[in-house]
Amino acid sequence: MTEWAPGDGNSARRITASRTMRGESAGLRYGLASWAANLETSRDLQSHLMNIGLFGGTFDPVHRGHMALAQAAREQYKLHRIHFVPANLPPHKQRQPLSPFVHRFAMLALATAQEKAFIPSLLEAPKESGAGTRKDPAEKPNYTIDTVRRLKQSLKGSDKLFLLIGMDAFADIAKWHQSEALFGECEFIVASRPGYSLADVANALPEKLRPRPEVTRPFHKQPAAGDLVLPGATIHLMGDLRQPASATAIRQAVAAGKPLGRFVDAAVAEYIGKMELYK
Ligand code: ATP
Repeated sequence: MTEWAPGDGNSARRITASRTMRGESAGLRYGLASWAANLETSRDLQSHLMNIGLFGGTFDPVHRGHMALAQAAREQYKLHRIHFVPANLPPHKQRQPLSPFVHRFAMLALATAQEKAFIPSLLEAPKESGAGTRKDPAEKPNYTIDTVRRLKQSLKGSDKLFLLIGMDAFADIAKWHQSEALFGECEFIVASRPGYSLADVANALPEKLRPRPEVTRPFHKQPAAGDLVLPGATIHLMGDLRQPASATAIRQAVAAGKPLGRFVDAAVAEYIGKMELYK
């Protein structure tokens, strides 16, 4: 059975599919990381009945596309708080040289400084090597499922956790570590892009959660918008944010000596220049 009904809040529509058709410098060591986790924990315990967002990424650097995604998600889904979680070792970008964790975290702290609800998070901060400036060979990649479970330990049962993600990253979600379990831990808020259909979203799901082809066939003509509610997965789709910024383009712009104002917050641009990143 496929059911169409008005969407929650500002979302355009809801599609429900039943089971039958499913077919955290030198001081940045373990102590700082756990202190930060405790801070996040105690803040969470003080409040109640909240919608919380978790926004992971490499943030190398954080840019206007990220901020647009977070702002839109906060407004549309009434998120009380969004934890921006830079990965120390992102599993999917292991071959790409990354800026040290401490720089990526500092830029996030600058970009989120004016937004009370935006928390730069140390949940995936390096535990052993100082500030993440050196790669510790014993350090394990940061899996989102572990970070989500860690953050959830600090939330109340009545709180709702949403994972924020862009459509390009969502397209690979089935390859993520324990992806099926991840959908059971939280709801997803996906920032769509022009050209993606609802079928692209459904077909990106881990195999066990993916609806059968006869179910998704009509989805091909439908844009990726609204809420997709399936057994084991709830996905809220936000429209295109019209913020084409990418960290790759920014790194290239710096290397080419181009101005960054279009892509990043002034404080972040200043930091990149001062620290001579991406040269
Ligand atoms: P890179 O260019 O190095 O791959 P990136 O710009 O995609 O980086 P990430 O830190 O890898 O940035 O992305 C974190 C999250 O933000 C991902 O879920 C990604 O899909 C999303 N995202 C990145 N850029 C945009 C954008 N312009 N609009 C909406 N979402 C975005």
